[in-house]
Amino acid sequence: MARNRIQFGKGLSLSQFQERFGTEERCRQAVIDWRWPKGFVCPACGCCDHAIVGKRRLYLCHGCRRQTSVTAGTVFENSLLSLTKWFQAMWLITQSKNSISTLELSRQIGVKWDSAWRLRQKLAAVMAEVETKRTFKGRIEMDDAVLGGEKSEAEGGKRGRGGANKVPFVVAVETSEEGRPRRVLLHLVERHNGACIEAMAHEHFTAGTHVVSDGLGCFRAVTRAGCSHTPIVSALEPEQPEKIPALQWVNTMLGNLKTAIAGTHKAIRRPYVGRYFAEFQFRFNGRHDLPGLFTRLLAAAAGAEPRTYADIRLA
Ligand SMILES: [Zn+2]
Repeated sequence: MARNRIQFGKGLSLSQFQERFGTEERCRQAVIDWRWPKGFVCPACGCCDHAIVGKRRLYLCHGCRRQTSVTAGTVFENSLLSLTKWFQAMWLITQSKNSISTLELSRQIGVKWDSAWRLRQKLAAVMAEVETKRTFKGRIEMDDAVLGGEKSEAEGGKRGRGGANKVPFVVAVETSEEGRPRRVLLHLVERHNGACIEAMAHEHFTAGTHVVSDGLGCFRAVTRAGCSHTPIVSALEPEQPEKIPALQWVNTMLGNLKTAIAGTHKAIRRPYVGRYFAEFQFRFNGRHDLPGLFTRLLAAAAGAEPRTYADIRLA
């Protein structure tokens, strides 16, 4: 099957990447392989009989005479950037552990900041599309968090209720039977209350999931979505919730997330937090197979709807 041509072995080093996708022709072929693994199929009429015409090498359908470009109908449509640049960006975004700033991305692939920003937002929207469908099961550690401010009352914050510039969200980490972190969910909520937690559980947790959290009352709402719930009320809590062993991974995850944001992005404008989270989540959940992560982003991008600037601009 043609798709196997872009499956990789163990690693995708910079030199391996360059070898496979270093030219416009190779990137074009990779998109063709993903879109039409068994050969061209006209998106308008389903006919396979075609010719390749003109300087832009468009596919001319012999059934309905419609012309289709390789990138039409994918997220690469409506872009002045070459596929080579798109591929470089996808490689940089998926292979970096702590993400990459848009400024750094623009320097690395040699485009203006605005172009890098658009490309990045389009790819992040694609990753969000993938991650929003993700469901979790088994044992889950869960905690409430706020971006742009601390939640502890000692620091003047009101727990569970963010201020004007604060973005409340929930972190959930699915752990394996051996107690290792498997996958993460970073879920934005309007506020930390029962209704939001219940909606989140309905959307992402398989019935029968077991949720472990600290003593915050709203987490009980997961039981209304068919999950079981163990609140850990410890003598340490709420002064040092990070010291509760049962919540070790969710706290580690929060720490890593905050480090990544502080180190790479400094600050994220509120409307874009969801996309940033999706990117973080996509990377973390695919971390065991880095080359595969690149391939999955490529596949998602080649299969995603085109987006215009108006589509990706949120504020
Ligand atoms: Zn056709």
